[in-house]
Amino acid sequence: MHIGVIGAGIVGLTSAYQLLRAGHAVTVIDAGRGPGLATSFANGGQLSYGYVSPLAAPGVLSQLPSLLFSRTGPLRIKPSFDPDFWRWSIEFVKHCNAQANASSTLRLLSLGLHSREVMQEFLARESVSFDYRPSGKLVVYRSAEKLAAAERSLELANGLGYAQRRVNAATCATLEPALGKIASELAGGIHTPGEGTGDCQSLCEELARLVDAHADGKLLYGHEVTGFDARGGAVQSIRTHMGDVAVDACVVANGLAAMPLLRKIGESVSLYPLKGYSLTYRDAPASARPQVSVTDADNKVVYASLGKHLRVAGMADLVGYDYRIAARRIQALRKLSAGLFPALGGAHAPLEWTGMRPATPHGRPILQRGHSLGNLWLNVGHGGLGFTLSMGAARVIADAIDGKRPAVDLAGFARLAA
Ligand SMILES: Cc1cc2nc3c(=O)[nH]c(=O)nc-3n(C[C@H](O)[C@H](O)[C@H](O)COP(=O)(O)OP(=O)(O)OC[C@H]3O[C@@H](n4cnc5c(N)ncnc54)[C@H](O)[C@@H]3O)c2cc1C
Repeated sequence: MHIGVIGAGIVGLTSAYQLLRAGHAVTVIDAGRGPGLATSFANGGQLSYGYVSPLAAPGVLSQLPSLLFSRTGPLRIKPSFDPDFWRWSIEFVKHCNAQANASSTLRLLSLGLHSREVMQEFLARESVSFDYRPSGKLVVYRSAEKLAAAERSLELANGLGYAQRRVNAATCATLEPALGKIASELAGGIHTPGEGTGDCQSLCEELARLVDAHADGKLLYGHEVTGFDARGGAVQSIRTHMGDVAVDACVVANGLAAMPLLRKIGESVSLYPLKGYSLTYRDAPASARPQVSVTDADNKVVYASLGKHLRVAGMADLVGYDYRIAARRIQALRKLSAGLFPALGGAHAPLEWTGMRPATPHGRPILQRGHSLGNLWLNVGHGGLGFTLSMGAARVIADAIDGKRPAVDLAGFARLAA
């Protein structure tokens, strides 16, 4: 089959790679001028397969009043008149309970662990360079209460055979010597040795190279998809502002922009931007480059060494489609980074970036066939886990297209109507 993949972010490119491996011809279509230039550009670099609990959790609702007014906390909400904001928020609130959270976490864990397997296969097969390191992940907590709560979700991962353990503050400092200075402030942490880090945009470039080098792979940049020629219950061709691309099937993987595109053909998905920020300290001092990937759980900030650079990412702002870098938010991130790694005081000014996580209300990506068009497939809504989940999501979509039983039950990744 000739399959059109819309989007050359990490989700579209992993999809294209898996479809080529399955023996299909693939054309990737992207509006931008290259691979991974939207949300996949400068994310936190975490491959956190076992740390997937969604934002919709019981404790979030009690924090709402402070979220509405805080300018420096890890989460921020600015209510809007946009009906999509309200539809999304109502569904989000419905999922802020222990049962829904545990159910989503379990499903995300199964996809995360499958993703890890597919990534290992990919790494063994391809010669690629994206500053990948099997670094392990250490999530540190200052609050003993929050650490105890985290220990409960650890049991879910251990139950699936994925090792995670609670460690005390002294072990945190042994696992990551750069944390030695703040060890006395820590209640402890959760260590997951199987996690990794890497540069998502570099992986997008590598995947694009592999697609381009394949006899049946093609990349079309600068082609904005404007709609579909859909007849007889199937997509006949993908419409772009540069002309139509005839296809036998189509994978929609254009992140946040999937919502308006799918609406044109009566397919609805509920996505909303969860804005975040990152800093990249180029050539960071060695003592400010952690050996394991570190997550500061209280502030929801992640730290990853990418080669000689340090990537810091955090903040989850529900503030609509505002692509500006807010000075106060980026300053807060800089302050937190300098607090955890004082050696950054002598580093060059970091590169600042903001991106929009394509979030679903329940925190699970949408991996399913279109409602009305039998050859249209959705691989969207990966929120804050797109780098982590992309390999597994791409494989299950490729399997489903081929009529094979995917390793992960797709029933857990259906859309909520928008
Ligand atoms: C601050 C921050 C930190 C994060 N940290 C992590 C992390 O540590 N680990 C992790 O796993 N995830 C992380 N994420 C999430 C991750 O970055 C996203 O889930 C992922 O990048 C989404 O990839 P995507 O391919 O779906 O979307 P995108 O990367 O946004 O790609 C979509 C592509 O579609 C194209 N497109 C859109 N509309 C059209 C159209 N009409 N026609 C043609 N092309 C179109 C765009 O040009 C773009 O290239 C983070 C996100 C943010 C913002």
